[in-house]
Amino acid sequence: MNPSERSLNLTVAVLGGGLQGCCIALALANRGQDVVLFDRQSDILTRTAVANEGKVHLGWMYAADPSMSTARVMIEGALAFAPFLERHLGASPESFTTSEPAAYAVHRESQHGVCEVKAYFAALHSLIAEASAGRRDDYFGRDLSLAPRQWSDVESLAAFDPSDVLAVFDTPEVAIDPIELASRLRAAVVAHPRIDMRLEHEVESASENRDGVTVATRMGEARRKERFDHVVNALWDGRIALDRTMGRDPGRAWIHRLKYGVSFTWPENRPRPPSVTFISGPFGEVVSYPDMTTYLTWYPSCVLDYSRAIVPPTWATHPDEPFRSKVVDDTISSLGAIVRALRRIEPDGLQDLRVKGGTIVAWGETDIDDPESELHKRYEIGVHSWGRYHSVDPGKLTMAPFFAEICADRIARIG
Ligand SMILES: Cc1cc2nc3c(=O)[nH]c(=O)nc-3n(C[C@H](O)[C@H](O)[C@H](O)COP(=O)(O)OP(=O)(O)OC[C@H]3O[C@@H](n4cnc5c(N)ncnc54)[C@H](O)[C@@H]3O)c2cc1C
Repeated sequence: MNPSERSLNLTVAVLGGGLQGCCIALALANRGQDVVLFDRQSDILTRTAVANEGKVHLGWMYAADPSMSTARVMIEGALAFAPFLERHLGASPESFTTSEPAAYAVHRESQHGVCEVKAYFAALHSLIAEASAGRRDDYFGRDLSLAPRQWSDVESLAAFDPSDVLAVFDTPEVAIDPIELASRLRAAVVAHPRIDMRLEHEVESASENRDGVTVATRMGEARRKERFDHVVNALWDGRIALDRTMGRDPGRAWIHRLKYGVSFTWPENRPRPPSVTFISGPFGEVVSYPDMTTYLTWYPSCVLDYSRAIVPPTWATHPDEPFRSKVVDDTISSLGAIVRALRRIEPDGLQDLRVKGGTIVAWGETDIDDPESELHKRYEIGVHSWGRYHSVDPGKLTMAPFFAEICADRIARIG
């Protein structure tokens, strides 16, 4: 850490104890700032941060953005992820559980044909190779110089139903186990002497004053206003609403989507599916971890509600029965129609079966079945600052560590 960055002591409120808020809290505290971290829940890292499949995106998903702007942003975020963990958790990237690298499979109903996907992958590979040259350790020890290999027909036929899958490519993209990540991040935040946590605090508004920003919170019936040198809004699905209390309106459309994922321990002695993402459109993925944890999503079975309200409804993170079983059955049967290994899986009796959901916040008006939807382009995210108020839209888990460093540097610079 640069000693000049340490000398400035500010008190910063970080609003939201998800992945983004916790990364920002650590980045600030390790630069010598005092942090007060607010969340409405009784613990940090209980919401979207632990409801996702943990892909550290390198851009393979975004063939619908041939400008490569989304890919460029994701590559930058992905290459900053492991170094952040090393710097702020003191943990080697190899000590985190990462998935088998993902194959990308072009679905029969893909919005982009095999030739188009191949051309996009070739361009993407050049970008990744260039950005990662000499930085092998920065993406969990994976060799990003290797070009994506197309599977032979025999390989593809062994794993997938050929009527649904047109072509399959190996990529080096991995997912990081979000539960383990959250647990190690939580331990670091809780133990940090410069981070004070205010749990069960609902953040109601923020307002600028002469030399800082005032935050209004409510705990039970008790309301309180406090002034901070800087305030960082990392509220994810509460972010747009809080910005509005500061008089900042995005001036564009957004969609909140409720998405569930299904995870379980793969049964012993059964052939495992590869980690695979089906593109491009409303499909899904399988993420296989070496410890047999398997994570599934299938868009039509897992994306189950939408909201254009400024604050989305309080969606259940753990759905009740019979809804929960329906998500499990529909996801396994839909993916099982394509992925051979999943056909032999009976939902009853699966060990460690979990269905967990969270909100995905994104700009746009239409869903991803529209090839023109803004949801296919995810680069207009990041740290927006108005004086001493900073609003951080991570867009993806992938980007949270990268934006945390940007935000903490900016605050140190402003002073
Ligand atoms: C099913 C699913 C799969 C996903 N898969 C991936 C993936 O593979 N790769 C990827 O890069 N991204 C993925 N994402 C997106 C990623 O999870 C999110 O971008 C990221 O977790 C959001 O940031 P966060 O962790 O800070 O949000 P959260 O964990 O939701 O944190 C926000 C915090 O703010 C608190 N809060 C909100 N409003 C208030 C308020 N008014 N007062 C007090 N506290 C408040 C909440 O309690 C919460 O703790 C996925 C998302 C979902 C739902």
